[in-house]
Order: sequence, then C-alpha cells, then structure tokens
Amino acid sequence: MLTDKKSKELMDEIVGLCKRKGFVFQSSEIYGGYNGFFDYGPLGAELKKNIKDAWWQDMVQRRDDVVGIDSSIIMNPSIWKASGHVDGFTDPMIDCKESKMRYRADHLFFAEVRIAGEMLGVVSLIESPEMLDEAKKKAEKLKRKLAIKGDLDEIVLICAVDATPEQYEQIPSPATGKAGTLTPPREFNMMFDTHVGAVRNDASKAYLRPETAQGIFANFKNVTDTSRLKLPFGIAQIGKAFRNEITPRNFIFRSREFEQMEIEYFIHEDSDWKTIHADWIKTRREWFTSIGLTSEFLGEEVHPSESLAHYARACTDITFKFPFGEQELEGIAARGNFDLTQHQEKSGKGLEIFDEASKSKLLPHVIEPSLGVDRTFLALICSAYTKDEIDGELRTLLKLHPRIAPVKAAIFPLVKKNENILQISNDLYKKLQRHLNVVTDLSGAIGRRYRRMDEIGTPFCITVDFESLEDNTVTIRDRDTTDQKRINLEEVLPFLLGKVNG
Ligand code: ATP
Repeated sequence: MLTDKKSKELMDEIVGLCKRKGFVFQSSEIYGGYNGFFDYGPLGAELKKNIKDAWWQDMVQRRDDVVGIDSSIIMNPSIWKASGHVDGFTDPMIDCKESKMRYRADHLFFAEVRIAGEMLGVVSLIESPEMLDEAKKKAEKLKRKLAIKGDLDEIVLICAVDATPEQYEQIPSPATGKAGTLTPPREFNMMFDTHVGAVRNDASKAYLRPETAQGIFANFKNVTDTSRLKLPFGIAQIGKAFRNEITPRNFIFRSREFEQMEIEYFIHEDSDWKTIHADWIKTRREWFTSIGLTSEFLGEEVHPSESLAHYARACTDITFKFPFGEQELEGIAARGNFDLTQHQEKSGKGLEIFDEASKSKLLPHVIEPSLGVDRTFLALICSAYTKDEIDGELRTLLKLHPRIAPVKAAIFPLVKKNENILQISNDLYKKLQRHLNVVTDLSGAIGRRYRRMDEIGTPFCITVDFESLEDNTVTIRDRDTTDQKRINLEEVLPFLLGKVNG
C-alpha cells in the first residue's frame, strides 16, 4: 500500500481501480446506486471466492477439530430473542432535524474552540484519521469569521456519546453547521426485518440474520449428534449477514449486506481458555499473512474489560491499517457459554454434551473468531496496491498472493498471425483452464498485455513465441519482479499449481 498518499486520495484510487477493472460495483448503479450495498464483478467474484475457499480449506478441511455447516439466513425469530439481538443489537443514533442526516453517536466528535480559555464556539466532525487536522481547520475558520485574534488553545476531540448535556446542546450538526438541531442519541436496532407467510402481522415478523454465529449455536445439537466430535472442537460457517448500519461507509468496509466467516470453537469450561484464545489470535494472524496481507499493517486491539458484554471473558480485534485508519478486521471473543445457555433455556431442549475426558455432561464455552469476507477483500486490495516504474514507465499493480489472485495466469501468443503459435497457445490455455482460472489475450503489444494483467494482480504471464515452435518452451514472467524465464510447456501446470497451492 502506498502509505505516503493521503488517505482519501488513496481510497479514491483503490475504489476507481475496483470499478474500472470489474472487481466491485455500486449496487443498482443504473438506478443511482443503493447506499450500503455492493456488487462484485467478474474479477471480484473470483477474488472473493478465493478468500472463502482459502479460509474453508485452512480452518475447516485441513483441521481435524473443525466441521462446517451452512444454515438458513432467515431462522425462527425466537433465536434472535434468545440471543439478545431483538432487544440489544443496537447502535446509538443521532438525527439532524434540519438536514435529516443520520449519524452514529460513537462516530460523531466535537471540540470546543477557545482562545486563552475563552470559548468561541464548537466544531463537529465525523470520525476519520484526519479529524484532528480538520477540527483545527474548522477552528481557524471560526476564529477568522469572528475576527478574533490570538492563538487557539489546544484542540481536544470528544466523542458525542461522552458529551455532558450542556456540551451536547452546543454540538453543531456536521451537515448544517448549526447547533440545536441534533436529537439526543437513541438506540437503533440494526436487524432488517421481514415477514414470512401470507399474513403481515407481528406474529409473522422475522429477521435477516445479522451474524452467522447463531445458526451454529442453533444447530449445535444436530451437529454434535451427527459428527464424532470431542472437545475441544469447532463449528464453522461462511455466509451472508445483514445489518441496517446507520452510516455505511468506507466502501465495502461497512456495508448493510456482507459476508462473514465465523467459527465457534467449543471448549471445556475448566480448560485454559486464555491460552486457547491466544492460540486462535496467533492462528488467525498467521492466516492473514499466509494469504498475502502485509504483516506491518496488522495490529491487535484488546477490548478493556469494562466494555465487554457481561458474559464475555475477553475480546481481541485483529486490526488492519486501512487508508482511512486502523480498524477491526476480525474479532476474536471468549464468550463463555452464554449463547448455548440461552438457547437451552428458551427452546426447552437439552443442549448439553457428554464429555468423555471429564466424564461429565456440560454446556461448553466458546472462543469465537469472527471475520468479514468483504473487509478481508478490501484489506487484501489495499495491501496489494502498488505503483512502481518499469523501463521508465509508471505501472500500477496488485501484488496479490497467487492463491488469492482472481486470474492465476495469462497466456499470450506473441503474434496473432502464426497458426502454429496460436495452436500451442490455445492447447496450453485449454489444458490450464481445467485446473485454474486463466485467460488468454491476443490484442496489443506484449508490454500492454503485461500491464493489463499487472493491474488486476495476475501473478504470471506466459508467452508463446517463435522459439516455442523449435523447442517446446515458453517464457513465464513474474508480475512483481518482471523477471522472465523459459520453461518447458510440460512444466507450466506443475509450476503454477505449486505457486497457487504452495
Ligand atoms: P464494527 O465494530 O466495525 O461495527 P463489529 O464489532 O460490530 O464491527 P462483529 O459483530 O464482531 O463486528 O462482526 C464480525 C466481523 O464481521 C467484523 O470483524 C467484520 O469483519 C465483519 N463485519 C461486521 N459488520 C460489518 C459490516 N457492516 N460490513 C462489513 N463487514 C462487517
């Protein structure tokens, strides 16, 4: 990622590339878009599938202690009552009565502007890495407007949720700049509701799941009854989740429809949960770097105990330094056995399992690594986005790991008009296509064809040339180094498979 770029400029470039190359589109674009929803284009769909496949292979198929499920999106609404989502899955929301804009209270900040302790006014901003600079600019503007001289006191940003009632009165709406138009924060439930069946009344109300985890808890008995699992073990799921976010923003980072990859890792209540929690944090960090996330952009944020839900023992976020700031990529929580206890109580069905090792019946506790597919997608693109200079020419490339790259290789016949070259090229293309997502490109100078592939992150370009006719070799070019070597046609597939699976 180009860290010296201004965050807004860099995000604009990344969003532009995603649209131009067919990774991500605004949903319903021909109708003016739809805030908080996105569509994945041909390359985006491949990239997203590669992320999910890599996670499923590494977290489910290649582990002896984890199995996967695929539960329905709409479930019996009693599940969401038992889990606490109907009553408590809320964010604090503020409305501006004049502009009708809506803000998440914990994303709204303000600062009192003073000179030598004397208050000039208050400025407000939406959370961003540059908000302190923005606040200073707004404060200077206020000073100029009031034609007051002197140096401003230090600007201290305060979150709207921490404002005293007197301070709250004075926060100007970020939309209008006027104070007194913001409503007090009120809790807003983020679950989308719908109705199931022909009659629309309270009894037919149902919800689109806001997380995949509850599908795992609700199926706990089914899975343990049908699989030979011994504690500790995990149940994993990948699937869509829906949250009516008050202010969806930062491209696909916070949207209203997204995908999650979650594991509930069940452990004995007496086990050393701190070590298991720490092991999961390590496992998940290593996975991120294994798929190509630059480790220097990864971080950890430990939630202070006072901010945890009453049943949770610990929660650590794995963070990523996005251009718009360091933000949560994955949450890894130690949740006790709250969810299973709730479902056992509210469903009236026994969910305890018999643990051979301790010869006891119990409701296991869980460690929950919970990750968003779309956030991983964005982190990978940000991490991979690079500009360099090749032979005096500026190029943009995505340094995506071969396992994750949407197109694994491009096959170029050097010239269009030589039947033999075309034949070899086509045979190779058809052979590779059976195993990997590959493309062929016949148009334009070879240099231009390379650039097109660099920009979408294709790790290898294979050129069939006149020498190929003589000795059955082709050139294979590495995207990052641009080094080329000749290899035998027979070696191409094992070479690529080694890189993609390696
Ligand atoms: P945030 O604090 O950013 O709203 P969260 O703590 O509510 O996130 P969780 O409920 O822990 O998120 O969800 C687990 C994961 O699901 C997150 O780490 C993130 O990767 C993903 N996720 C959550 N909400 C969204 C969203 N609105 N858009 C995209 N991904 C999301």
